[in-house]
Amino acid sequence: MEKPVVSVVKHTETYRSLRRALELCDGLRDFRRDDRILIKPNLVAWDFDLPFPPYGVVTTTAVVFALVRILCEEGYSRITIGEASLGIEGSITKDIYRTLGYEKLRAKYGVEIVDFNEDEFVRLDFEGLELSVAKKALEADKVISVPVLKTHNQCKVSLGIKNLKGCLNRQSKMRCHGKTAELDHTFPLLAEKLPLALTVIDGIYALAKGPGPTGKAVRKDILVASRDALACDIVGAALIGYSADEVEHLKFFARRRQRSTALSEIELRGEPLENNITPLEYDWEWTEDNTGPEGFRKRGITGIAVRKYDSTLCTSCSKLFNPMLILLMSAFKGEPFPGIEVVTGKKQLASPGFEKTVLFGRCAYQQNKDNPHIKKAIAIKGCPPDLREFEELLRKEGINCDYNAYVAYRQYLYNRYLEKDGFSMDLFDGERLLAGA
Ligand code: SF4
Repeated sequence: MEKPVVSVVKHTETYRSLRRALELCDGLRDFRRDDRILIKPNLVAWDFDLPFPPYGVVTTTAVVFALVRILCEEGYSRITIGEASLGIEGSITKDIYRTLGYEKLRAKYGVEIVDFNEDEFVRLDFEGLELSVAKKALEADKVISVPVLKTHNQCKVSLGIKNLKGCLNRQSKMRCHGKTAELDHTFPLLAEKLPLALTVIDGIYALAKGPGPTGKAVRKDILVASRDALACDIVGAALIGYSADEVEHLKFFARRRQRSTALSEIELRGEPLENNITPLEYDWEWTEDNTGPEGFRKRGITGIAVRKYDSTLCTSCSKLFNPMLILLMSAFKGEPFPGIEVVTGKKQLASPGFEKTVLFGRCAYQQNKDNPHIKKAIAIKGCPPDLREFEELLRKEGINCDYNAYVAYRQYLYNRYLEKDGFSMDLFDGERLLAGA
């Protein structure tokens, strides 16, 4: 059997580098001129209130725009870009499109820009799990997944296959983080339902401790492309230090397709892999007795046990987990906390022996509302929970978190990316990019 081909190309000038990546893997070989092409970037998050460094978190606008330009130059005119970004209040896809200048693609290339959240979804059976998939993605003749090269605190890596989860509606995304459904065994099934024809991994920036902006980005300047989704992700994972065999969703997908996860079964073209590997950690270190992040222990924070989140914590809640830790840190003034446990997600059960138990989110509340071990519940019942409410309810219990400490932390995260180190918002500025094209 022919080996799948994956190209790895150094990023210099985006359009040229991407062209080379596509040529090396013959990326458009199976595309027909009248195909309806759906590009799915990763625009998972943005923050319109606090500083938001997008590096390694969302696909650079430069790569998406270069891809559109190449497709148009090659004679493909039926192009749609689709995403379903969610904020606390609801869809933020259009706001992200606007911020990144995607709307300009409509005027220049006639691209259709779609917020899946506002479009139709089709309910499909995923081996007993019902998920609603964006109709536009299902109706496309070819889907192009354009993820970022990043780690993921639950899935280890989040690449082309994981990026498809953004084609689900809100409820279905949550269902993937179910009590019984194993996250790593849900979203890979999307790669079988959708006509996924090409993956382009945007590795201009890569992200450690992803998937959100509390991770740490590095400038990596690499592009990876393949017509073979699994092979592309195997190579992407290797570039940030992970063998596919340690990434459950890749192993699972390979097993289903009766495929190998070995790099030796892939034909690599372009840059040699071994010269381009940057190992990136995927998660924060936790204490052995599961009382909180190592950072808490190092700061001498005691009297509190924040249980490590599991895969049942869905994206909306997990985005708030790190901020919640920062708020708790801000309440620490050298004295031990008064015996607090924090539980999250759909499975964690409060333990005996604590004075107060924080039930972070509706799921943790539902799971523990009748738990006899709880002496005093501090229930943040929102879905997702509200950090201001968290601050308020803890204050009532004498624990003074300071939301401003979180604001300062966000500013710090933003400020640490300097232009001299290759971090530039220019790569996300669609208007500027089109003016220079
Ligand atoms: S409470 Fe959190 S984990 Fe539960 S469904 Fe809502 S966002 Fe997901």
